[in-house]
Amino acid sequence: MGLWESYKRFPVIYKILIGFVLGIIAGIVVGPQIAVLYPLGTLLIRLLKMIVAPIVLFSLVVGAASIAPKKLGKIGTKIIIYYLATSAVAVIIGIFMARLFNVGAGVNISTAAGTTIKVSKAPSIVDVLLNIVPTNPFAALTEGKVLQIIFFAIVLGIALTYLMNSRNERLRKAGETVYRVFDGLAEAMYKIVRGILEYMPIGVFALIGYVVAKYGPKVLGPLAVAVIALYVGLFIHIFVTYGGILAAFRLNILKFLKGAKEAMLTAFVTRSSSGTLPVTMRVAEENLGVKKTVYSFTLPLGATINMDGTAMYQAIATFFIASALGIHLTLAQQLMIVLTAVLASIGTAGVPSAGLIMLAMVLQSVGLPLTNPNVMLAYSMIAGIDAILDMGRTMVNVTGDLVGTSIVAKTEGELDLTKWK
Ligand code: ASP
Repeated sequence: MGLWESYKRFPVIYKILIGFVLGIIAGIVVGPQIAVLYPLGTLLIRLLKMIVAPIVLFSLVVGAASIAPKKLGKIGTKIIIYYLATSAVAVIIGIFMARLFNVGAGVNISTAAGTTIKVSKAPSIVDVLLNIVPTNPFAALTEGKVLQIIFFAIVLGIALTYLMNSRNERLRKAGETVYRVFDGLAEAMYKIVRGILEYMPIGVFALIGYVVAKYGPKVLGPLAVAVIALYVGLFIHIFVTYGGILAAFRLNILKFLKGAKEAMLTAFVTRSSSGTLPVTMRVAEENLGVKKTVYSFTLPLGATINMDGTAMYQAIATFFIASALGIHLTLAQQLMIVLTAVLASIGTAGVPSAGLIMLAMVLQSVGLPLTNPNVMLAYSMIAGIDAILDMGRTMVNVTGDLVGTSIVAKTEGELDLTKWK
């Protein structure tokens, strides 16, 4: 077996972790000379930036077009409201945790690498909302305005659904062709992401090595704090948010967890909501007593668009990076995080570390673009420990899908309550 083959076989997340650890060691041992490897890190960031706009466009068009208009009826409305609301709550908990634990404090990257960031004055909420609608979707694409891309992608996806369900054969065929093109492009983007993840260990090595050489190993403490902040937040989200919602529908969280635990564990170890989907569906039916009419729609949709854990992670990571750079996020910027993290989590594919890639978009929305070398350094630190963060957030992503599915089933009278006794 060739070297490349053996490299590829080794799970990517361990490689990133190894790159991270070796980078720290190299940073300490080699010292400032390690800066010669810095372009390897820059390459990683360029690759990540490259993929964001196309992946958002293609995967969201496909996602929005996958919901049949008929299903968008009662069940659809309920579950989508639930998905959006709980993701927003998750982000808000994330912001609280980030502030409570003061994540990113003590990293002090601000004086490094020259450039300082000009945080532009925050526009009013009305302007922020109006700005989501692009005046020119193609300009939005070239300028990487992700919120605008998302808006256009969803509108285009919904229009495609109507075409595909049209009685007019010409329209139906045209709609299906375009859908397939987008589907193919989205799949191609996931392949590219996988390729980028193969490169990530090397990029992370170069970036973290540089950070450690410059600031010393003391930067590791703040990373541990970020991990703790996320896990405490996730714990609160499970027991308070989900527990509360279930209780409001007279369902017991402990019974729920007993039924859902297999899916939760699978999500934790695979770090993929999509990969876990078969298990999620099975526990919904067998352990939680949800009828197929409900879960066959809500769970695949949830695995694609509902990612509470990812949304919370993106909020905490954004705070980490901002405060590592000594930037105080204004209230308007925090509201922006709520909005973009919910949307970014919707656009995140249910595969390992996808949330890390979509984080670039949240960062950009608050004026922290990855093209800034300081942002890039702080980002690489968060990227280095993504395995640990991804396990917890994926578990919560899947748990949220099951909670929503259970309560919608209950309100529709499609829940076998004997399973909850
Ligand atoms: N791994 C997550 C999931 O599959 C996505 C993410 O990276 O946040 O749900």
